[in-house]
Amino acid sequence: MQIQRKIIHCDCDCFYASIEMRDNPSLREQPLAVGGSPNRRGVVATCNYLARSYGVHSAMSASRARQLCPDLIIVRPQMEKYRRASDDIQKIFHKYTRLVEPLSLDEAYLDVSNTTLYGGSASKIAEAIRKEVRESVGITISAGIGPNKFIAKIASDWKKPDGQFTVLPNELQAFVDQLPVKKLHGVGKVTAAKMQNLGLTHCSDIKTMEIEELKRLFGKFGARLLELSKGIDNREVTTHRVRKSISVETTFEKDFVSAEDCLKPLKNLEHKLSQRWQPHSSDYRIIKQFVKLKFHDFTLTTSEMMSHGIKSDNFTELVQESFARGQKPVRLLGVGLRVLPIDKSSRKNKNKADQSSTEPQLTLPLN
Ligand SMILES: [Mg+2]
Repeated sequence: MQIQRKIIHCDCDCFYASIEMRDNPSLREQPLAVGGSPNRRGVVATCNYLARSYGVHSAMSASRARQLCPDLIIVRPQMEKYRRASDDIQKIFHKYTRLVEPLSLDEAYLDVSNTTLYGGSASKIAEAIRKEVRESVGITISAGIGPNKFIAKIASDWKKPDGQFTVLPNELQAFVDQLPVKKLHGVGKVTAAKMQNLGLTHCSDIKTMEIEELKRLFGKFGARLLELSKGIDNREVTTHRVRKSISVETTFEKDFVSAEDCLKPLKNLEHKLSQRWQPHSSDYRIIKQFVKLKFHDFTLTTSEMMSHGIKSDNFTELVQESFARGQKPVRLLGVGLRVLPIDKSSRKNKNKADQSSTEPQLTLPLN
């Protein structure tokens, strides 16, 4: 029999904004957003709960946010500071379990099934983590506790901000039954509308349906829908997020109207990309370089080429190629690398098999 898993989903409350309020407490009483300037066509990355009460939300243009909330204070993001806080939070997570899967800077799944701390109570562990984050990092974090990732993730939203919610195994079906279908991962606007038309509004409406019927209506996703509506999710907490790319981008203050203009910020971007690539260079190898352009009408184009390093000439060529494709004013330029993880185990075996190999042996950490 499979042991009952205990998963905690931890999610910081309005992370970037919380860090800014921590460092400048006078911002606590004000509607606050972290993002780009409205005059420079920036977007809101995160906002505090006061700003949310005006209808401001993340990914909204900063100018629209200012319309909704004229007193909105917008501060520029300081990513380095957020990364440091994120590292501190991850360290706290790791005190409680080795099985931590970060989803972003401020969010992670923890598998505490085998943790003996607090008598093995996942709810008590979540309380302890939240207390420690509050006291040592100075921000609040919410948690969802459940028998799998799907439930934990939904539960972490239940008592936000600064709260936690536990779904016990014997409460699982009742919890899922009352969930609106649009809360399910994979149900976007289109699927939600289709379900609405069919009278499927809650998971309880789906769980009794025949799998064949669901497949007929929703294709492959039908089977997944049935599982979710029964609260089943067998995905494991995996400690390594496998990256596929690493990139940096910038939005220009004014549209660039020629390929030549677009080349100007390349050097700076390339420098930033190198810095971002550095810490990954022992675990990944570069297979391609790519360039992304967003035109003034928000259409996107990407060009890429095979490469094993960061080469300026390649980026120059790719920018010219992308620009020629649109021939329109450009508002954003991004440069990046497609990467593959280095398979250290197979490399090691290969070296063992071929002792005369001149390939450097990789030293693996012992823990
Ligand atoms: Mg969050």
